[in-house]
Amino acid sequence: MIIRDNMMLPTIPTPDELLDKGFRRGKKAADLRRGEKMPKHLKGKRIEETRVITACQVIKDKLKMILDRTPEIEELPEFYQDYIDITVGVDDFKQALGALNWAFGIITQLEKEYGAKIRKAPSEKAAGLRKQAYGRISSVVHKIEKDLDFLDFAKQSLRNMPTVDFDAISIVIAGFPNVGKSTLLTHITDAEPQVANYPFTTKGIQIGHFEKRWTHYQIIDTPGLLDRPIGDMNDIELNAMVALEHLADAILFIFDSSETCGYALENQYNLLEEIQNIFDAPIIYLFNKMDIADYDGARHDYIQEYIDKTENPLLISAAEGEGLEEIIKLIQQVEKRERVEEAEDEYEDDENYFDLT
Ligand code: GDP
Repeated sequence: MIIRDNMMLPTIPTPDELLDKGFRRGKKAADLRRGEKMPKHLKGKRIEETRVITACQVIKDKLKMILDRTPEIEELPEFYQDYIDITVGVDDFKQALGALNWAFGIITQLEKEYGAKIRKAPSEKAAGLRKQAYGRISSVVHKIEKDLDFLDFAKQSLRNMPTVDFDAISIVIAGFPNVGKSTLLTHITDAEPQVANYPFTTKGIQIGHFEKRWTHYQIIDTPGLLDRPIGDMNDIELNAMVALEHLADAILFIFDSSETCGYALENQYNLLEEIQNIFDAPIIYLFNKMDIADYDGARHDYIQEYIDKTENPLLISAAEGEGLEEIIKLIQQVEKRERVEEAEDEYEDDENYFDLT
């Protein structure tokens, strides 16, 4: 079972932190040279050269570490690409990384340029040249301030991303609030569900797992997203839903037959139709709260009308554990959906993206 670690971005420094560290280490390295024996007219130059080169190296190392530790977005599963796009914006993200790469390139040039200048110049000019180099390094690092800020914001925003198992069969639960989604989730999965952030849901996303015959299943509930009319959603919320579409191998749609959730079956059916329009995944239909629905009595025909509109529905009571075995049997028939990797071609020619120098 491969579960991707949450996307952990490295700690992002501010421009001043980055510069302080570089200049401080430059000074330290230069101080070490002061004890060395060498002709006086060379020593001053060596000291300044060391300061410049060490400062550049330290700053470059930090930038490189950030670039290396940040995952290549286009290599991530589509669900994460969507997630990052909705949460912070993929284009902005790439632009910020591109800017760091740019700064890396310029500082490499400055390192070479001023190293050579100091070596060639007369001793008394060395300190002035080092100051000039520091000024230019400082200006480059300040130019990427907004990019460092953005990456720090991205780090905070992506901190509690859902941990999704892309080898598992994924079932996404839908239905109005209070129809019994989380009750069902906790009854059919082991242990406490993982709770993670999900854009535009107040309560985040809940992921529960169970295993049957060596197959891993994950059940996903998104309170606040698949539980209200889609016509009311803005574009970003719709995108958040499309991300789920990329994940779902099937949808578990839950009706509250008792209508104690506060929504009439007709409204619940309308929500189902909207979800059917958006998701290609097969749907498993559940009629919940049968224990209090009065299906054996006066409400039989009324409920039956909706039952008849769905294919192979299960009548269950999540709270009483009625029908759970049957749900699991239906889930076991769900197959992993093959997805075309749309993104692949699009980025193929884009290998030099970060090479903006
Ligand atoms: P969600 O908002 O869809 O996740 O709904 P919950 O799982 O929180 O359930 C809402 C309420 O309905 C809770 O008070 C549950 O105890 C209750 N409930 C859920 N399933 C059943 C059921 O099968 N029978 C009865 N009688 N109550 C249920």
